[in-house]
Amino acid sequence: MLACDFGNLESEISMINDSKADWFHIDVMDGVFVPNISFGTPIMNILKKYTKKPLDVHLMIINPDNYIEKFAELGSSVLTVHFEACTHLHRTIQRIKSLNMKAGVAINPHTPISSLESIIKEIDLVCIMSVNPGFGGQSFIETTYQKIKNLKSLINKRNSKTLIEIDGGVNSENAKKLIENGADVLVAGSFVFKSENPTNTISTLSSLIN
Ligand code: ZN
Repeated sequence: MLACDFGNLESEISMINDSKADWFHIDVMDGVFVPNISFGTPIMNILKKYTKKPLDVHLMIINPDNYIEKFAELGSSVLTVHFEACTHLHRTIQRIKSLNMKAGVAINPHTPISSLESIIKEIDLVCIMSVNPGFGGQSFIETTYQKIKNLKSLINKRNSKTLIEIDGGVNSENAKKLIENGADVLVAGSFVFKSENPTNTISTLSSLIN
């Protein structure tokens, strides 16, 4: 939703509601963990009110532990925190799950998959950042494919059910290859909202990966 037109938020939400998209992906930025500030609870309240699909909330913030309850109240189905922002990741994940949300862990481009080895079984979703987080509309980092393969083999080795989500620079050129390499969830922002017909763009992406 970072790439949507906030002046027409309600109509942007209904477009997604009526589209083939499965989830709403919401990037919350604090201007500290990432150099940008996106939005906070007032926008989340509007999303909660009008969306008819699960809210996949991506916290790009420091001290995410302070906000876990808040985002549960705001209707998050998936709550993703950054590996780089959590000192006690295991505890954070348990708290998210105890509030009936799926626990996601996002990793920045410089963070290796091996960092997740001892905790992968606890994680419902790993979000691989395929751009440096902070802004929409950046270009895709090619080494992401290898990272997906490494993560998939770790998941298989540990017999875990963790989903692999790719966030950043997803478009109709790379979507199929991402899925073939093992991705389960693709986040598309600018590619959808900046296209001439967002509903059709979502349908196209959806047909490429299903
Ligand atoms: Zn995101």
